[in-house]
This record gives sequence, structure tokens and C-alpha cells, in this order.
Amino acid sequence: MDPSSAGAGGNSLVSSGTDAQKRRVCYFYDPELGNYYYGQGHAMKPHRVRMTHALLAHYGLLGRMQVLRPLPARDRDLCRFHSDDYVAFLRTVTPETQFHQISSLRRFNVGEDCPVFDGLYSYCQTYAGASVGGAVKLNHGTHDIAINWSGGLHHAKKSEASGFCYVNDIVLAILELLKLHERVLYIDIDIHHGDGVEEAFYTTNRVMTVSFHKFGEYFPGTGDIRDIGYSEGKYYCLNVPLDDGIDDDSYQSIFKPIIGKVMEMFRPGAVVLQCGADSLSGDRLGCFNLSGKGHAECVKYMRSFNVPLLLLGGGGYTIRNVSRCWCYETGVALGQELDEKLPFNEYYGYFAPEYSLYVASSNMENKNTRKKLEEIKCEILDNLSKLQHAPSVQFEERIPETKLPEPDEDQEDPDERHDPDYDMVLDDHKPLEHSARRSLIQNIRVKREFTETETKDQHGKRLTTEHTGPEPMAEDLGSSKQAPEFTTVSSVQELQSIQAILDVETLV
Ligand SMILES: [Zn+2]
Repeated sequence: MDPSSAGAGGNSLVSSGTDAQKRRVCYFYDPELGNYYYGQGHAMKPHRVRMTHALLAHYGLLGRMQVLRPLPARDRDLCRFHSDDYVAFLRTVTPETQFHQISSLRRFNVGEDCPVFDGLYSYCQTYAGASVGGAVKLNHGTHDIAINWSGGLHHAKKSEASGFCYVNDIVLAILELLKLHERVLYIDIDIHHGDGVEEAFYTTNRVMTVSFHKFGEYFPGTGDIRDIGYSEGKYYCLNVPLDDGIDDDSYQSIFKPIIGKVMEMFRPGAVVLQCGADSLSGDRLGCFNLSGKGHAECVKYMRSFNVPLLLLGGGGYTIRNVSRCWCYETGVALGQELDEKLPFNEYYGYFAPEYSLYVASSNMENKNTRKKLEEIKCEILDNLSKLQHAPSVQFEERIPETKLPEPDEDQEDPDERHDPDYDMVLDDHKPLEHSARRSLIQNIRVKREFTETETKDQHGKRLTTEHTGPEPMAEDLGSSKQAPEFTTVSSVQELQSIQAILDVETLV
């Protein structure tokens, strides 16, 4: 089918302008980022962000958007989601001293997939600072779209690294957006399930998470279609499980109808789109068959709603494809058609022999049958229809005062941090009026939703099985073949304190 016709209605919520209308775009980039190195043989290569930047420069796109160098996120910024002891560990551990901290390495799941490397903490501060900075820009209303290709590290947990991710810049950016917006939508098109973000917001109706991912014998093992949120968050979490070889038409046949309905029902004030490029055809760790244009169709579709949009990176391990994809998507954000022929650039050799901007799909088999995709779509749309009937109050304009927990003792000076701290552009923005109170919701118990026929034991077993599944292509990482421990949500009784701090008062 024609992807552009699938689930038409992307413009249905547009209050002004059209697709052709220009968007004000800001782009966060730190020239140091490409120098961080996970280690020999490791699949994650921050260099891909530098390659992307080179393409943007040679296509002349840097002059069409505000280019900002992020200021590093500080300890206290990271601690809005992450635990103090985990952040302190990331700050202090070094490649030389790590072996004196074996128990901490194990506890925080650092060492194999998530190695200790030179400058690790600065790396985290940089990519997190860029995502939060993007959220700040959107909150100020000076830009319609903010981009951080170094962000999107969706697997990081409150007190644990996972899947090449150390701090969860997405959760931090969403917390920033929640200062202004009552509801924030998170969409994840990385091939892997967006587990860290889902977990952080599993029990709230202020953040809806929607993840499209390969499911079944695949990292991280979570993202079952039956996982739909819990308590007030019930039905505010959607998981779209897909199989190998999905192509552009199949993908859009499910993406647009679902997201179109989500936009209609949830009516978010801002959208965060994680653009993990490991869902592209030919990815070193992936098994989907999306072309660059098929991937970018998701960006184009989200842009058409004219809702503040934060575009983030994520996975992506065939780096010449990643850089071409994110360059193309930056063009989409700007509404700028780019010549297929790549301009000469310092990484030109990577793009031989075609030197084309487009990432092509292959002839691999598509294991997603129309029938199966239709069933998945119907089940998700059915869950969405229950939003109207969900027991929690829909779309309340503010969190009632009584629901707010007590302020944290390390309350920040509300005026201390404001926009200019997040970037190097000296402009005259007034700081946001931070009436937001910092406080902690401690000991929130998070439980997965049970089907009526499923016992706790069965459920726990299912999750345990999923979480201990092998990491596919682990051999590519050049690390130990032992599957990492996945300690998240492993038993209902142990699900404490893993969520984001929903401590922000809405600024309206
Ligand atoms: Zn991924």
C-alpha cells in the first residue's frame, strides 16, 4: 500500500499552516562527542554523530537552523531521574580504577555492553544536556522542533546502565517538558523496545509511551503487547511487537493508524520521537528492512501535527546508514528536499560506491504477514479506545495539589538554572518561572498489568524468561558472550523506586 495514504489524518489536528510551512528548528551538537570511544569492537560508535554533522554542514543545513552547543547536564540534573549513588559512580569510575569496584560494576550493570571508557561521565553529561536543552527550547516556544542526534539512549534505568545506555536523556527531557505540558507523547522507532522510558512512566497518564520494536528472542526482551501500563497509567503505554524484515509499507500501515489515533485521543502538548536507526535495512545489529525514506516517513508524519517535537537519535550500528538517515531526517524537519548525490565531505569514503543520501531496503523476507499486522493494529486500537473509559481522570489540567509529595530536602534554587545554561548561544531569554518543586516520590511500587487469567507467578516467570534472553549479535560486540543481567521488573515484589520523579508543577 501507499504509505502516504495509510491512516491519513496527520494534518487533522493542524490548527494553522500546512506541511509546507517552515518550522523553527534548533539542533544541538558538541564537536567533542565524536571522540568518545566505547572500545575496540564495540558496536556503538559516537563518531556516527560527527559524520551526520559533516553531512549537514555540506548540505548547507546548518545555516537553516539554530545550532547550539549543549551545556553539560549537572549531577543534580541527572538525579532528577537517576539515583544519587549511580550518578556518583558514573562520575568517579575510570578505566584504571574500575577493577577496584567490582561489586559496583555488577550492581550498576557496567562493564560489558556498557563499558567504562575515558570521559564516560562527560559523554553522559553532553548527550543528556543536549536533550534537556532541546526540551527547554521547546518549552520557551522559540522553536517548533529541537534535534539531538547524540541522544535517545532509551535503555538506561534509574540505577542501571543497559544496552549501551548509561543515563536516560529521554526521561530527563520528558520531565523538562512536563513542566509546561500536561501531557507528553513518547514514540520509539528504534528496533529495540524503549524499556527505560516505558518503565519510568509506567504508572502515569501524563506520559504516553508507544514503542515499535522487534519482539521475540531479542534484546531487551520486554515490550509485550500485553504490557499496557498500570494504575493511572493503564492504557497509557502501547507496545507494537514486530518481526524480522518489516518493510516501509508494512511499517507505515501500522504506524500511521496507531499514532494518528494516539494524537486524537491523547492530545499531547509535546512529542518526543526517538529515531533509533537500527531499524534500517542492513543494520549491524538489527533485522528490519526499512529504507531511509521509510524511516523518515515517521518524522514527516509527526512534523505534520504541528506539535512541539523533540527528535532524538538512539541505536544505529551501520554508521554510514545512520548518518545518511539522520541527515535526511534533519532535512525533513526543515522541510528541505536534499539532493540524492552526497556532497563531498571528510567522510566521503564511507559512502562508496553509491555516494547516495538514500538508504535502500533489501530483498530480505518480511516475516510480518498482513494478517498478523492487522491483528496487532486492532488490539492496540482497541486498547486506545479504552482510554475514554479508563478509571483515571482524563486530561486533567494539573496535578491536584494533594497528589504532590513533600518537597525534597535538596530543593534547588529555582532561579539558578535557566535556558542559557543549556547552550552556548547568548540570547536574552528570560528564565522560565520555576515554580516547579523538586520532590521525590519514593517507593512507588510498579507492577505490570495482569491479564485476568494470568497468575502472578506465571507473569513473573514470563518476565524472567524475557529478561534473561540472549542478546542477539552479542558476538559483534567483542565482549564476553554472557548475557547481561536484566534486573528491571523481574518480580512484582521488587518493583520499587524505578520511576521518574513526577514532581513538576505544571507551568501554565
Ligand atoms: Zn536499538
